[in-house]
Amino acid sequence: MSVTKDLKARRAAAVAQGVATRGIYAERAKNAELWDVDGKRYLDFAAGIAVNNTGHCHPVVMQAVAEQSEKFTHTCFHVAPYESYIRLAERLNAATPGDFDKKTMLVTTGAEAVENAVKMARAYTGRSGVIAFSGAFHGRTLMGMALCGKVTPYKKDFGAMPPEVLHAPFPNALYGVSVSDSLAALDNLLRSSIDPERVAAIIVEPVQGEGGFNIAPPEFLRGLRKVCDDNGILLIADEVQTGIARTGKLFAFEHSGVAADLVVMAKGLAGGFPLSAVTGRVDIVDAAPAGGIGGTYAGNPLAVAAANAVLDVIDVESLCDRASEIGNVIQHRLNEIAQRPGMEAIGDVRGQGAMVAFELFTDRTTKKPNAVLTQTIIAEAEARGLIILPCGTYGNAVRLLPPLTTPMAQVTEALDILEASLEAAIYTAVAAE
Ligand code: PMP
Repeated sequence: MSVTKDLKARRAAAVAQGVATRGIYAERAKNAELWDVDGKRYLDFAAGIAVNNTGHCHPVVMQAVAEQSEKFTHTCFHVAPYESYIRLAERLNAATPGDFDKKTMLVTTGAEAVENAVKMARAYTGRSGVIAFSGAFHGRTLMGMALCGKVTPYKKDFGAMPPEVLHAPFPNALYGVSVSDSLAALDNLLRSSIDPERVAAIIVEPVQGEGGFNIAPPEFLRGLRKVCDDNGILLIADEVQTGIARTGKLFAFEHSGVAADLVVMAKGLAGGFPLSAVTGRVDIVDAAPAGGIGGTYAGNPLAVAAANAVLDVIDVESLCDRASEIGNVIQHRLNEIAQRPGMEAIGDVRGQGAMVAFELFTDRTTKKPNAVLTQTIIAEAEARGLIILPCGTYGNAVRLLPPLTTPMAQVTEALDILEASLEAAIYTAVAAE
């Protein structure tokens, strides 16, 4: 029996089935490569879902963590604070968009950062309502789940959601929702469903992650900023998946020139160690009373050391530029493939920096989503040694999230594998018709 087979059986018997898993059991990983327990090599174009932006085990990050582990691994910032947390806060205050004074709090997961941003917005405004968007993903905690714009599997079977959480349609030109449609629907929501004076915040992903890498057009973000300013509502940028150089800028909001009041980040921030942050306007971040926000592990010293190193690496290795370079190469190749006869199933190639996705349709004209073909392509790629992920409200998009440190030769290798996987999956599907 292979080690993988054995682990699959033990996993099925011992681990909650709701924690969905792929069948690749990791043994070790280095930069963009990952080896499984049976010695099979993969190119990891999931990067732990946009976490290993600096690659697996970047030497500078590992060195910083090793050095910190010699000093202390946990004191609890509430009990015995440390300089590295303060330094990281100073850096994030300076690096996030917006020319105003900022403060930062650190927590551990993306969902936890979202929760804290909502708590700050409520404390500051004295209002309780929150508006999110269809297709959004904001986490699996109670408020995070409520904010998600997708019922199955995130909300299904989990009971009543917190009140005054509403959704407006996210713009999606491919599916016929323009920016003005979306802003008109938001306006309607504020007339028909909730008094704007009850709304604390609007939360938005600048590029929807789980929702299918749908890019918020700059005029949409500008429109949201205006709605917020006109109504005393705060704008929260969920940069959990888009942040930390992924889209070619340190934060994706920079592409639009819009500054949110609060920025939520996680994933890539600490290069594989659990850390998240909320950075925003001083008076909003300071609205929560002392002891009202925080947590035992919030801002763990090892994760903070990693994050300070990640920010150095992004700077030294120009990873924002690399994200754009890698993304351009991927998009160019995918567009080329999509234009070939027989490849009509590929309906849309899109992305921002090294955050690239394409959709699969049964028919390009009716745009009927093809989730089955999507899963086949992902399985074909896995068999050939490439890890990629699905996304999208209809489960019919493939997303590519390579480490920003991936050598160009491995980007090409991954695209060769993807092309072979697309051919195998699409031609087999056609032959079976
Ligand atoms: N927001 C966004 C945009 C995300 O992509 C995610 C994770 N996929 C989260 C929040 C939740 O982060 P976590 O899984 O660390 O709680």
